[in-house]
Amino acid sequence: MNDALKLGFGPLKAPAKGVLIVFCDDALKFGPATRKALGSAADLVARAPQVDAGFLHGDFPPDRQRAFAEQVVATLGMEEGSWRIDPTAHPFCTSFSNRDVRLTTRYREHDLESVWSTLHEAGHGLYAHGIADSLQRTPLANAPSLGLNESQSRTWENLVGRSLPFWKHWYGPLQETFPEQLGGVPLADATVQVSPRANTNCQWARLKGRASSLSATLK
Ligand SMILES: [Zn+2]
Repeated sequence: MNDALKLGFGPLKAPAKGVLIVFCDDALKFGPATRKALGSAADLVARAPQVDAGFLHGDFPPDRQRAFAEQVVATLGMEEGSWRIDPTAHPFCTSFSNRDVRLTTRYREHDLESVWSTLHEAGHGLYAHGIADSLQRTPLANAPSLGLNESQSRTWENLVGRSLPFWKHWYGPLQETFPEQLGGVPLADATVQVSPRANTNCQWARLKGRASSLSATLK
């Protein structure tokens, strides 16, 4: 993470501008946190266009965010009745067994960060949910690999949750949840497709004001 900060992925001084979706068809190539990869990514970010993401800021009632989050998580593959989501100040996931998975998320009134923080925690939840019954009540049932566990959360938050296919499916329900805020913003205006291979610019590190998706994944 220190290398990432030196290369400019740290806290952004200017208000972060971002987009609802970044779909990068080369995303999976940036696996290992090598300096070479960071350098390439830094270059992409430096050339990234500024995108007006004002539609992501406004009044988003937490109760409706919560309804949307539960709607999404219910489709991710966890057994009905084996999980729940509750609000918290700092999102986390814990589990008491593979069928007692407890997600928490944070709903802020003026943005939709909860969508991605929920997906992140749901990734942790899926990891816990997938631990074999035969391992329950053993040390191996308690997140045997923190790295793999975190990789699942990043996968759902970033590779899935910022992908075009995901939003082709979920943008309609999101608009229905927030018709005043998003009803007039069509999917095409809410998304930008980027591809390093096509020499277009990549917006990864500007998606979130606090931690960039790219640096967070590589740290
Ligand atoms: Zn995590």
